[in-house]
Amino acid sequence: MDEEGRFPQEALDALVANDLHAVHVPEAYGGAGADALATVIVIEEVARVCGSSSLIPAVNKLGSLPVVLSGSEELKHRFLGPLAKGDAMFSYALSEPDAGSDAAGMKTRAVRDGDFWVLDGVKRWITNAGVSQYYTVMAVTDPEKRSRGISAFVVDKDDEGVSFGAPEKKLGIKGSPTREVYLDHVRIPADRMIGAEGTGFATAMKTLDHTRITIAAQAIGIAQGALDYAKGYVKERKQFGKPIADFQGVQFMLADMAMKLEAARQLTYAAAAKSERVDGDLTFFGAAAKCFASDVAMEVTTDAVQLLGGYGYTRDYPVERMMRDAKITQIYEGTNQIQRIVMARNLP
Ligand SMILES: Cc1cc2nc3c(=O)[nH]c(=O)nc-3n(C[C@H](O)[C@H](O)[C@H](O)COP(=O)(O)OP(=O)(O)OC[C@H]3O[C@@H](n4cnc5c(N)ncnc54)[C@H](O)[C@@H]3O)c2cc1C
Repeated sequence: MDEEGRFPQEALDALVANDLHAVHVPEAYGGAGADALATVIVIEEVARVCGSSSLIPAVNKLGSLPVVLSGSEELKHRFLGPLAKGDAMFSYALSEPDAGSDAAGMKTRAVRDGDFWVLDGVKRWITNAGVSQYYTVMAVTDPEKRSRGISAFVVDKDDEGVSFGAPEKKLGIKGSPTREVYLDHVRIPADRMIGAEGTGFATAMKTLDHTRITIAAQAIGIAQGALDYAKGYVKERKQFGKPIADFQGVQFMLADMAMKLEAARQLTYAAAAKSERVDGDLTFFGAAAKCFASDVAMEVTTDAVQLLGGYGYTRDYPVERMMRDAKITQIYEGTNQIQRIVMARNLP
């Protein structure tokens, strides 16, 4: 997938066949009803082999959680059912060309027209765009009120006026399509609004409190995959007449990698338990897990490349892909600078 930069259809088919593509959907809507920790473990295990494929269960949760958290019963039945069955995927459309870290600065507009809303704007960097059937789109309904004037909507790929940009050419997660979503006079029934008018930004942020933990899971999965590979390699590779695993300098690197990774995993699992209970300190823990785990993943994957020497730097071995894939976990769902701002504002 990495080499060809194409969507991992085989992985999607395997995940759907095993009911692992959107495990978070509650049983009431036809889903597997996995709790936050079980969802984290699914994403972690997929990421251990393929970071791009792990974005299937992760983004299905990200895209649909606004509906789970704030949607009407009717919206839940209508849109979570096909997701649970594997008939449709769900994406999350918050970012725009000029509104990334400052997401509330978005320009996409939704204007009321009788029993309809008409959406116009450009969403950028949308994971699984074009592949997903459904999109949670945040749009400005009252420009005077800034973040309190933003509302969330479910947009269907087949709605008239929806189209997609060319796939971005990325450093990593090349199997995961990232495209712009164009909304050109998209007229949708008013009942597609998620929650009340003006609550879309709050729902979008509440969603991220939960789903940053799934990015932490992706990060620890990628790092574990790299550590697994490096651990095997150092036993096979001989220099100076013995396996490089016999050198204390190499052993200390592996010990540090495993130690940091385990600390990241425990923080992520603790955060997942808080997500399940919706604890008061969830916002801090969601940001901390994502920030810490992604920084650890970058360190561990970089060290894995180091342990393979020149071979690690080639595409004949999987660790350079893991290093490239790890990088995105420090950037999306809020950069790690933004996570530190969130933590500082929500110190426990
Ligand atoms: C592959 C990929 C997939 C993505 N998927 C999605 C998706 O599915 N849905 C979606 O809505 N978005 C998605 N995103 C968007 C992603 O969340 C944004 O790229 C991210 O939030 C950063 O925004 P930006 O790129 O505009 O960077 P900017 O906000 O321009 O930031 C540039 C730099 O400035 C720093 N910075 C900005 N403000 C501050 C501050 N106040 N203090 C300190 N430093 C600051 C940032 O940390 C960063 O280092 C995706 C992005 C990528 C690359």
